[in-house]
Amino acid sequence: MVSTEYERRIAARFATFDQDGNGYIDREDFNAATKAVLTEFGVRARSDKGQALYIGAEAFWQGMAGIADRDGDQRITRDEFVGGAVKRLRDNPDRFAEIARPFLHAALAVADTDGDGAATVDETARVLRALGAPGEVAAAAAASLDTDADGRIGEKEVVGAFARYFTVPE
Ligand code: CA
Ligand code: CA
Repeated sequence: MVSTEYERRIAARFATFDQDGNGYIDREDFNAATKAVLTEFGVRARSDKGQALYIGAEAFWQGMAGIADRDGDQRITRDEFVGGAVKRLRDNPDRFAEIARPFLHAALAVADTDGDGAATVDETARVLRALGAPGEVAAAAAASLDTDADGRIGEKEVVGAFARYFTVPE
């Protein structure tokens, strides 16, 4: 059964990845996401944190392409996303956590401006806004990640939530 609500949610997930909005997901979208996060926090691409984020983004892209790019043209279309990524990620959320983890780990390190090992809720909201989430959505999502309400967001919380977000139930 394909419901309108299901299609709407899939479209939102696709749009999250299709950062430049040209109708397919490719390496450029991951580079754009990386640039946006680095710009938000004033971190240079050539710094250690900047390089780690680019490397994480490349690994994320390669993992997504391996799952979803069925015709191997280095682009994930909406059909490939729905038929490949969404279905396989739903069947195996751990696999998704695995391919997203280096990018999320590096993004949290960029967001952790005082270097105490965790990003605050506000810093996490800034990451989500840089990735295109509307302000109020980003703030609510960041707050919901802080499950133990200590004001700090760790890697485990982010990776788990990210996998759940993209594991769209039919
Ligand atoms: Ca795109
Ligand atoms: Ca393709």
